[in-house]
Amino acid sequence: MAIFPIRVFGDPVLRQRAVEIEEIDGKIVRLSEEMLETMYAAPGVGLAAPQVGIERRIFVYDVGEGPMTVINPEIVESRGEWEYEEGCLSVPDLHWLIVRPKEVHLVGHDLQGNELSIEADELLGRVFQHELDHLDGILLLERLERDQRKQAMRVLRARAFSGSAEASRDA
Ligand code: ZN
Repeated sequence: MAIFPIRVFGDPVLRQRAVEIEEIDGKIVRLSEEMLETMYAAPGVGLAAPQVGIERRIFVYDVGEGPMTVINPEIVESRGEWEYEEGCLSVPDLHWLIVRPKEVHLVGHDLQGNELSIEADELLGRVFQHELDHLDGILLLERLERDQRKQAMRVLRARAFSGSAEASRDA
């Protein structure tokens, strides 16, 4: 088992749309295990494959109820609004208040190929939306208000990334 280096802002792999997984084989199972290990080491509450340089539609998460893996996820419904101070392991040590839908209905598959259908709100709902964005090549910076974003870009341009995030609620 290995811990992957987490790709950070500026890496082009974070801007690519990840590809659907057609077959859940041993490689995917191993990838999921290594992604979970990487996520716990960070530490974070979620991690999508592009964040470890793999352009596949899979993410892992744990919001305190144990490790979970979702393959080929889709959000089929979203409701309400919720403001949350969101962070990202690929944009370390920075957080912004971001408004997104409060509840989402996520579908996908688990590692055994079973269909998943999960109603999630607040933190879990936020993690799902954040990870889905990663699979579509979208970083949370694109979810910021215009002024917030300008300021964020100034900070990011000015700094050299040196490693892992300290916050534990990043994804
Ligand atoms: Zn992220």
